[in-house]
Amino acid sequence: MEVIESRKQMQERAESLRLAGHTVALVPTMGFLHEGHLELMKVGKRHSDKLIISIFVNPTQFGPSEDLGKYPRDTEGDLEKARKVGVDFVFLPSTQEMYPEGYQTRLQVERVTQHLCGISRPGHFEGVATVVAKLLNITKPHMAIFGQKDFQQLTVISRMVMDLNMDIQIIGVPTVREPDGLAMSSRNKFLSPEERESALSLRKSLDLAGEMFMEGERGARVIKKAIESLILSHPHTEIDYVTLCDPVTLEDVETLTDETLLALAVRVGTTRLIDNRVLCKGSDQIISRS
Ligand code: AMP
Repeated sequence: MEVIESRKQMQERAESLRLAGHTVALVPTMGFLHEGHLELMKVGKRHSDKLIISIFVNPTQFGPSEDLGKYPRDTEGDLEKARKVGVDFVFLPSTQEMYPEGYQTRLQVERVTQHLCGISRPGHFEGVATVVAKLLNITKPHMAIFGQKDFQQLTVISRMVMDLNMDIQIIGVPTVREPDGLAMSSRNKFLSPEERESALSLRKSLDLAGEMFMEGERGARVIKKAIESLILSHPHTEIDYVTLCDPVTLEDVETLTDETLLALAVRVGTTRLIDNRVLCKGSDQIISRS
């Protein structure tokens, strides 16, 4: 496994991989790797013969009052995990390498960023779209793998790739969970044991909504109310949003259709957690988009 810090060197390596006829996959991450990230890498390996991951805590996607300074990092541990999964290249740039003196370009995906996390995290998806576009230009992959846990991010990137005619397949991977159902997240490490218990209210909300949907409930307001009281019955919880929306446009719906996205953002203590599920007849997750 080769670790590359320079964007120029990464571009040269990526170019030679392509010239040699390899199929290249990229898994972008912010590090502090867990089983969710590793699953993305395993999917990447299955679909390609050269796997690049990036580890970069991107400052431009954090708001001024957000947790950039305390975002967890463990480069040595990450490299060990990546090596075990069989990653070929780790792109590990510094902030200076990604945003050198004079940098002034930001990419805006319009409508799908105006809902869900876009409301409470203004500018977040501009930062995400910009850094992902840069990473795609640096690593030149045929495909890039993202988690459905960050459903809106996956939507934004899919839209960007489509709108800018980038010749890259975007693959979405279902959320990897702890045995008790908590969605894996680098931020889970901030939860105290009591908060960890309250954090299960997100997974319980998805289950409750799934049951109500299966029993025929289609009123968004009814489901939302039931979820809000479930979450707030747990200590240390503060709801950012509980939204039932169209899984493509992310616009709110009043009446659930045969495929509706339930998306949640909840602060548990000081840790902001997100989770989601597509409520639909038959399967409850969308497997792949391109
Ligand atoms: P992050 O390091 O949090 O920016 O995440 C990097 C990638 O891993 C993103 O595509 C996330 O959606 C994905 N990811 C994070 N947590 C999970 C999870 N529990 N299951 C699947 N994918 C995940």
